Amino acid sequence: ILFAFRNLSITARITPYRSLSTLVLAEHEGGSIKTSSLSAVEAAKSLDGDNSVSLLLAGSGQSLKEAAAHAASSHPSISQVLIADSDKFTYPLAEPWARLVHLVQQRGGYSHIIAASGSFGKNVLPRAAALLDISPITDVTKISGSNLFIRPIYAGNALSTVRYTGSSPCMLSIRATSFPIASLPADSKSDAASIDQVDLSTLDEDDSVGKSRYIKLSSQNVERPDLGNAHIVVTGGRGVKSAENFKMIDKLAEKIGAAVGATRAAVDAGFVPNDLQVGQTGKIVAPELYMAFGVSGAIQHIAGMRDSKVIVAVNKDADAPIFQVADYGLVGDLFEVIPELLEKIPEK
Ligand code: FAD
Repeated sequence: ILFAFRNLSITARITPYRSLSTLVLAEHEGGSIKTSSLSAVEAAKSLDGDNSVSLLLAGSGQSLKEAAAHAASSHPSISQVLIADSDKFTYPLAEPWARLVHLVQQRGGYSHIIAASGSFGKNVLPRAAALLDISPITDVTKISGSNLFIRPIYAGNALSTVRYTGSSPCMLSIRATSFPIASLPADSKSDAASIDQVDLSTLDEDDSVGKSRYIKLSSQNVERPDLGNAHIVVTGGRGVKSAENFKMIDKLAEKIGAAVGATRAAVDAGFVPNDLQVGQTGKIVAPELYMAFGVSGAIQHIAGMRDSKVIVAVNKDADAPIFQVADYGLVGDLFEVIPELLEKIPEK
């Protein structure tokens, strides 16, 4: 009897997440896993316990096969790569992806589901959460335990600590910039993870798949670093004054191998497309160097770049709020400063 009671008390102490298994929703491009998805794997690594990480990839044809092979050896924490190979996933549409997550979760019973908080994650996670009847925790910047997370609120002016007490799985979107990928020593190449196909036969019968339709992809210069992961970002604001003048920002970025960013005012004025917007309602960046030209430093803009390691601001107004967060500030006319920089920075 004593033995039975001991067993009972042990059972009672087991938390639902004692043995963790995490499903990471991954994006791929050109046969490689996106860096932001590998940051989601880093986040999974920082959960408590003995966590086994499965990566879910969807797509079709050769690029999916190449991405699966890349994924399998891309991070030592990945133990399994699940691939959903179907024409439905040729483009990452939210509805079929959400049903896929639901299906894979029903079969795998994962304790956590994680995706990077980009437009893909923001599209898919809420829909998948609704199908699973759970509440996702968004924009997590720190993981303090299997159910304890930190996320910014009030445009990054305060941090809130959230304890998840809902039913399993615990679903998170993470800020990729807060979970940089640890560089692996050359001799620590991980064993390749297993690659398994997801059986999609039940998904095919579901008639709610196909409510959205892919039309086209307009993307920026692929030679440039991705804005979300770039080491250097050169941003232009309304002070740049026109799309034509913005070419100066482009030129500078090209010369120093940077990504181009913009304020919402610059986007709204039509200087650049909105995928370059940095800020509360744009991309969150945390590069080594952030250079802001003709940017006033509104709170909604600061929310997207305040974690940059070194911030340089050029503004002709000495009282511009951007100078309060800048490490180096220059009160000056950007139309004089940028040409001078272009002249003085040597060609690559
Ligand atoms: P302005 O505030 O007009 O500043 C232009 C600056 O350029 C000025 O400081 C001026 O002194 C300087 N300048 C002008 N000429 C020169 C020159 N020749 N040389 C040097 N300096 C010069 N904004 C974002 O950026 N990202 C967001 O995600 C975002 N989300 C928002 C969400 C909400 C809900 C709301 C309400 C607003 C949001 N905004 C966002 C808008 C934000 O409030 C500001 O309006 C915007 O950031 C201002 O952009 P700006 O600094 O380019 O323009």
